[in-house]
Amino acid sequence: QAKSEGRDSAQFYSQEMTERAQQRLTMETALRQAADGEGLTLHWQPRVAAGTGALMGVEGLLRWQHPDLGAVSPAQFIPVAEESGLIVPIGAWVIEEACRQIQAWQGAGQLPREVSVNLSALQLRHPGLLDHLRACLQRYAVPQGVLELELTESMLMDSVEANLAVLREIRALGVGLVIDDFGTGYSSLNYLNRFPIDRLKIDRSFVLGMLEDSTHLAVIHAVIGLGHTLGLTVVAEGVETEAQAQALTQARCDELQGYLYGRPMPAQALARWSEDRGAVAPA
Ligand code: C2E
Ligand code: MG
Ligand code: MG
Ligand code: MG
Repeated sequence: QAKSEGRDSAQFYSQEMTERAQQRLTMETALRQAADGEGLTLHWQPRVAAGTGALMGVEGLLRWQHPDLGAVSPAQFIPVAEESGLIVPIGAWVIEEACRQIQAWQGAGQLPREVSVNLSALQLRHPGLLDHLRACLQRYAVPQGVLELELTESMLMDSVEANLAVLREIRALGVGLVIDDFGTGYSSLNYLNRFPIDRLKIDRSFVLGMLEDSTHLAVIHAVIGLGHTLGLTVVAEGVETEAQAQALTQARCDELQGYLYGRPMPAQALARWSEDRGAVAPA
């Protein structure tokens, strides 16, 4: 009895695994076709100054619309893109698209101070990254200090010395560096100090719980203090309520990003968003 049940559930699991593997393969095949930018777009989410609400910058977030699969969320397709290596060509497309958008915004007199995109570990390790960045910056006449790359802590701490060399070269191109999802990985304070970064982004999970859980609030205070000591701007992501914004501003967080201000949106909608709000930080 027990034996046959065991066999049934093993069969059930293997069937589920087969299905999952199948789905993954379908997605990977579809992603392979998207790697040249087909079906991909960037949506832009504003980041504002805590005190004034002035627009400080925008973050580009990848969106993928597939004819059969429909809209697939980054949480689903980024891991597949990373495991298959497809994140390298896709990430290259993201960088180029950001630069193209920067040029378009500049032409329209609508260029935010900073425009960031997310970078994966594989991209950071890829030997073609610097040449691609250089080519895009030149092709789209991107001004110094506008383009920024967001990296996670764990990415940086992985192989510190190799990363340091690449990060310095990225910086030398006039591209800024941001640590994303700060607080979720582990950082050696020793190294943090050595990385040529501009900004820390406190992970959304701390903001989410900060008003209910005093340990989250304590982490937020500590990260803000640490960031300021290192001379960095500190941003909170995932700000959804006025109460969170107030508490973060009181904690001397410099900048805020989240649905309270705006969801990631197409470039056209961002232009309307800025017009409606009126406040853009002087360059
Ligand atoms: P991330 O870089 O930390 O981006 C922030 C995520 O939080 C975005 O999710 C954004 O839409 C969401 N978010 C922003 N404000 C709020 C809020 O107030 N409430 C809530 N609930 N969510 C908020 P999204 O766009 O689904 O992206 C998820 C993750 O996928 C990103 O996290 C990033 O790690 C990755 N990703 C997105 N685009 C790219 C890309 O072009 N390249 C790479 N390598 N990764 C990307
Ligand atoms: Mg990010
Ligand atoms: Mg900058
Ligand atoms: Mg984040």
